[in-house]
Amino acid sequence: MPDLEARIAGLRARIDASARRAGRDPGAIAMMAVTKTVDPPTVQAAVDAGLRVLGENRVQEAEAKVPAITGPAQWHLIGHLQSNKARRAVALFDAIQSLDRPDLIGRLDRLAAEADRVLPVWVQVEFARTGASPSEVDAMTRRLCADTAASRNLQLQGLMTLPPFGEDPEEARPYFRRLRELRDDIAGTEGMSIPGLSMGMSADFEIAVEEGSTLVRLGTILFGART
Ligand SMILES: *Cc1c(COP(=O)(O)O)cnc(C)c1O
Repeated sequence: MPDLEARIAGLRARIDASARRAGRDPGAIAMMAVTKTVDPPTVQAAVDAGLRVLGENRVQEAEAKVPAITGPAQWHLIGHLQSNKARRAVALFDAIQSLDRPDLIGRLDRLAAEADRVLPVWVQVEFARTGASPSEVDAMTRRLCADTAASRNLQLQGLMTLPPFGEDPEEARPYFRRLRELRDDIAGTEGMSIPGLSMGMSADFEIAVEEGSTLVRLGTILFGART
């Protein structure tokens, strides 16, 4: 799929240019392909073209898709996770980015322990839609970083957010900035390390990179409009 390769290269160049504008290292920013509604052959083409991080919103859709894809891809859950689907999610995904409430910590940790693995997680911060409130995030990240049995099988990778929908991508900038500030506050606390910021989608990824994103999540701009 030469079109897809060219599109990926073009997006990579835009990410790199945004990073340089902000004085950031372009190598610090990864691109996720958001594959919801995308058919497996197209997802496979994206992996073959070099994309390594894939995002799905729904456990059920991913169950059909993950086994169909070969190659060195990591699957991240980026949609809301119902507690009764947590076991299936842990069996399927390499990382969970939608850890959006405190009670999910214990459940995911238990399931990861049963599966004898360490599960990378991102705390989803809510500014308008779903996610943990910024005040809950502090307690959640402390619990995840604490060296106690409560979360031994979870590894905090960063914070994730979806800003409220706005007509103008610039409207997302203050939310991206707040997520970075929240990350910096937490990272300034003794014993806490959270490097990642998963933010920026098709309409606003360049702004997100300027504001510190380490992982942009791209769907439409890579694969075309979803039907
Ligand atoms: C669908 C989705 C994306 C990708 O959105 P596009 O605008 O198509 O790039 C990114 N993140 C989440 C959480 C999504 O649900």
